[in-house]
Amino acid sequence: QAVAGVQKLSPYVPGKPVDELARELGLAVDSIVKLASNENPLGPSQKALAAIQAELPELTRYPDGNGFVLKQALANKFALALEQITLGNGSNDILELVARAFLAPGLNAVFSQHAFAVYPLATQAVGAEGRSVPAKDWGHDLPAMLAACDANTRVIFIANPNNPTGTWFDQAALEAFLDQVPEHILVVLDEAYTEYSAAGELPNGLDYLSRYPNLLVSRTFSKAYGLAALRIGYAASSPVVADVLNRVRQPFNANSLALAAAAAALTDDAYLERSRVLNDQGMQQLTAGFAEHGLNWIASRGNFIAVDVQRDAGPVYQALLREGVIVRPVAGYGMPQHLRVSIGLPEENQRFLEALRKVLAA
Ligand code: PMP
Repeated sequence: QAVAGVQKLSPYVPGKPVDELARELGLAVDSIVKLASNENPLGPSQKALAAIQAELPELTRYPDGNGFVLKQALANKFALALEQITLGNGSNDILELVARAFLAPGLNAVFSQHAFAVYPLATQAVGAEGRSVPAKDWGHDLPAMLAACDANTRVIFIANPNNPTGTWFDQAALEAFLDQVPEHILVVLDEAYTEYSAAGELPNGLDYLSRYPNLLVSRTFSKAYGLAALRIGYAASSPVVADVLNRVRQPFNANSLALAAAAAALTDDAYLERSRVLNDQGMQQLTAGFAEHGLNWIASRGNFIAVDVQRDAGPVYQALLREGVIVRPVAGYGMPQHLRVSIGLPEENQRFLEALRKVLAA
């Protein structure tokens, strides 16, 4: 029998795969629009693809267990020391490493209502208590999260921007929060979507590491860098925290194709900028469409947006599937009337808006 913490878990529900829906509808795979998993619709950077090609002859060898080349590239780009960096099999791996290293039965982690599902999953899987703090205007209520901490709190998970709401907090709010978090608590600042904001639009978590030794910033190559399939993310923290994570990490948690592709992707600023601009345009296209349909949405700084369909969103999701459009229901996040839709290519956004119009009018 599974241990108590695991018995209470429900598994993470991913976006429905394109080929599965294509099979169900008897349609070609390329006729399906998938805007369900916050993926980059541009596909990966050409530089990343070339790096993967170059790495293929080496598949028989284990990857570099220390990820030296990627860590060096990250250290150079962000002015970090190698000892501050931890690589993960996706940033989910980082979140799990934190839970395994810092949480246990009798301890607790604090996160927000409507926050990323892996925070409670990782917390409960190690038998710790997860404390979900009511959101404010769909976003994190940072003062209330502070108030929810006690002597047994070891981790606070915050996301900027947050998934699935897209909400964010500014520099003043983050600083006021970090100033007040007791030193025995590790703050995990999840910046999975930070690259979708232009410089200065959001606080840069990396700027705070030297001031707050109990801060860890997690990031990923799955979103703006377009490498979700490879599973590669990273954490920047104090060397002390990185050393702890390194002890619980699997020896080869980041694979060699991912290491090579991520290092190459970091050099492709033009690709990143194209991704950001496309995202801004898609966001405008979707919000204009929602306004036309008379729908409300939650303002988002991610590559996705939560729209209020003003009814139980489950049947709307199902009806959209029958139109060949996959989005994400978020009832499991306490948002039963919202659908989360990822920003796609202009024609994909258009297909979604047309399908939504049809489904809501039916
Ligand atoms: N954090 C947030 C807020 C996310 O939305 C996601 C992806 N859905 C992740 C972390 C994990 O992404 P990955 O494991 O692909 O890096």
